[in-house]
Amino acid sequence: MKSFEELLAGSVAAHGHLCPGQIVGVRMAMLGLRLLGFAVPPAYPQLKQLIVYIEMDRCTGDAVAFVTQAKLGRRSLKYVDYGIMAATFINLEDHQAFRIISTEEARDLAALYAPHASAKREQQLHAYKVMPDAVLFRVQQVEVNLSEFDLPGPTRRKVVCVKCGQVVRDGREIVWGGQPYCRPCAQGGYFRNAKEFAWDNMNWSPQPEVQEMEPRIGERHLKERPLILS
Ligand SMILES: [Zn+2]
Ligand SMILES: [Zn+2]
Repeated sequence: MKSFEELLAGSVAAHGHLCPGQIVGVRMAMLGLRLLGFAVPPAYPQLKQLIVYIEMDRCTGDAVAFVTQAKLGRRSLKYVDYGIMAATFINLEDHQAFRIISTEEARDLAALYAPHASAKREQQLHAYKVMPDAVLFRVQQVEVNLSEFDLPGPTRRKVVCVKCGQVVRDGREIVWGGQPYCRPCAQGGYFRNAKEFAWDNMNWSPQPEVQEMEPRIGERHLKERPLILS
């Protein structure tokens, strides 16, 4: 069990600076783990039973991820782009789930909890340490439908997009007329006008090959292609 101050110091080091979001995020994660009856920070086997949804890509999200040790690469961290200062903590064993929302009232009340501080940031840095959880947060008990495609572990399914040939993992394809498509092809993506780009400097690799070999087909192809500058 680590103290709030220890967790905050670790979170600040990982995030890069001390900010009100680190304090709120560390406390949000501590509350979430306590609600599930998990150690803070969680250890095995609880670490493998925990799923965390984060609803914002802001400072607070980094602190929640740090304290819970939930990771995108382990599929224990889920990001949903809601723009809401909230996170949900799920125990895969008993399916208990708690959604914790950072209150707007806490922002309004920061000055009251830090009468000696004048700047808003200083007020928040102090106030968010002394406010009780009940002022800082609202808690909802929720149900989260996790499909087997959302769970940690090996890839459950791979399909190939019939339009662009990209492999799509874990049931994220869109089926149209019985055919699978990747989401960018089916719905449009965050990018557009994708053109294959060849660049001579892409012959670099961090380690030299053991023996000199004939350039592989792909590399030869890369060299012969004109450099696209636009
Ligand atoms: Zn920050
Ligand atoms: Zn596609």
